[in-house]
Amino acid sequence: MKDYIITAENIQLLVNDVLKQGWDVVSESKTGVNFNAIKDASELAIKSDSKPSKLSMKDFFFPKTEPLFFYRQSHDGVELVDASPIEKKTLFLGAKPCDAAAIPVLSKVFNWDYKDEFYNKRVENSVVVSLKCNYSDDYCFCTSIGLSQKAEQGSDAMLTEQQDGSYFLHIVTEKGDEFFKMYSQYLKDTQAENNKPVESKYPEPAVKFDQGKVKGWLDANFEHDFWNNLGDVCLGCGQCTFVCPTCHCFDIVDENCNYHEGGRMKNWDSCQLCLFTKHASGHNPRDGQTKRYRQRIQHKFKYYEDKFNEVLCTGCGRCTRGCGVGIDIGGIMERIDKF
Ligand code: SF4
Ligand code: SF4
Repeated sequence: MKDYIITAENIQLLVNDVLKQGWDVVSESKTGVNFNAIKDASELAIKSDSKPSKLSMKDFFFPKTEPLFFYRQSHDGVELVDASPIEKKTLFLGAKPCDAAAIPVLSKVFNWDYKDEFYNKRVENSVVVSLKCNYSDDYCFCTSIGLSQKAEQGSDAMLTEQQDGSYFLHIVTEKGDEFFKMYSQYLKDTQAENNKPVESKYPEPAVKFDQGKVKGWLDANFEHDFWNNLGDVCLGCGQCTFVCPTCHCFDIVDENCNYHEGGRMKNWDSCQLCLFTKHASGHNPRDGQTKRYRQRIQHKFKYYEDKFNEVLCTGCGRCTRGCGVGIDIGGIMERIDKF
C-alpha cells in the first residue's frame, strides 16, 4: 500500500470535507477523557504523546445500551419493529494502536457463533486512522502481548507525527486506500518527496512478561491462593471492564415495557459485578470477588487464547490507571510470570 505525507492543516481541511459529506468524525476529546464525535476540525485532538483516554472508543462499535427491536401487541398478534438501521459512516482519527487493535479482537467474539449485525455494520461503516503512539507509562504493556506503539492491527491507515508537524500516512487496508483516494488533493506522494517516517524518540514500553509462560501457569492454577489476595482487595465496581476496549459482557433485557409494548435492549454488563452470574434461584456460581477477578484474568489470558489464539487485551493499561484500589493487571501478569 502507498505512503503519503499530509500536513496538519490538510488534516483539518480533510476532516471538514468528510463532515460535509455527512460522515461522523470521531477523535479523542481535548480533555483526554473519552472519544467524541466532533462537529468541526477545530475540535480535533491528535496527540501522539498523550496518555490513553480514560474511556476507550468501544462504545462507538458496541454502545453502552442499544435497542435490538421493539414489540407491540395488536388485535392481530404481536408486531415486531426493527431498531433504526445503522447507516452513518464514521472516520476514527488519531486512535492509539492499542485502541484500534481492540476492533479485530471484539470482531472475533461478535462473529464466533452468532453474527452480531449491529456491531458488524458499525465496523463495516468505519474507517480507522490510528496514530503511532509516543507515550508509555508504568501501566502500558502492549509489547508484552505482541503489539507495539506502531502495531497496525485494526487500523485502515496509520499516521506518524513528523518533526515538522506534518504526518507520514501509511495506508494499511484496501478500505483505507479507497477512503484516502477520495481526498487525494490533501496528500503528497512520499516517493516524489523522498520522505520516510520519523522513528519515535520515546522508548517502547518494556516487555513485562512472557504470555506463553503466564498462559501455562493459568492452565495449571485455577485454584491458587494468589487469587484470594486479589479478590480480597477488589471492590467489584466493574470500572476496569467498562473502560476496557476489549471487555464485551452484555445483558439482553426488556425495557420501557408494559403488557402491550416494549423494547428489547442490549446493555453493557460486567463479570466483576456480583449479579452478573446470579441465577434466578439465588445460586451464584461466582459468589465472591476472588472468583470474579480470577474470571477476568482467566478470560483475557487463557480462555480467549484457547479459543482464538490471542489474548483479550491490548495492554493499554486503562483498567489499572482507573482502579480505585490500584489493582495492576500488567503487574499481576509480571507476578505470575515469576512463579
Ligand atoms: S479490579 Fe479495580 S476497577 Fe476492577 S472491579 Fe476490582 S476494584 Fe473495580
Ligand atoms: S484489560 Fe486493561 S490493559 Fe488490557 S485492554 Fe483492557 S483496559 Fe487495556
